Amino acid sequence: MSIAIPSSLVQNGTGIPDVCARHGEAAVLRKSVKFWSKPPAWSYLLLLLGALPFLIVVMVLRKEVQAQAWPFCEQCVKLHKQRLTIGLILVALLPISFVLVNAAGDAGGVLVLLGFVLAIVGFVLVSRGTYRVLPWGFASRDGSAVDFPKAHPQFVTAAQAAYAQAAQQYAAWQAGQQGAYGQQQM
Ligand SMILES: [Zn+2]
Repeated sequence: MSIAIPSSLVQNGTGIPDVCARHGEAAVLRKSVKFWSKPPAWSYLLLLLGALPFLIVVMVLRKEVQAQAWPFCEQCVKLHKQRLTIGLILVALLPISFVLVNAAGDAGGVLVLLGFVLAIVGFVLVSRGTYRVLPWGFASRDGSAVDFPKAHPQFVTAAQAAYAQAAQQYAAWQAGQQGAYGQQQM
């Protein structure tokens, strides 16, 4: 399921549920998380000009929404540790392939190539296991909301409830303000 939470409610915490976005389970850990917007599709064309122009455009256009205490469940913590461990092992195989290259003889080239491929897989795995990426949330391109395209149904329900509560509190606050204003007028 997908859901978009207004950025202001992510930043002040009122729109953040008590369950994780990925598994819909109760939070055992809360961490500060920055949600970034995805680069626009056309920006990838800049890769033809090199990595630097692409990176500059991505950095300039990127919107960031920070949550102070994002919820992570036990499974999230496990997934984080797994991906980090396996990823680092794969990355560590690259220098080992360099050491073994002489002993491998003719197969040395293949060995190093394999080392590079596994290292890239390892890097991707480590980055996919970071607490920033695990919730699979992305700031919208205008920065007004954080989208969760693959949120757990339980998370969606909890986020909707949090939104309704935040909206109610805001309405009550606004009514209070108007009331105070009215009294001042009298
Ligand atoms: Zn989880």
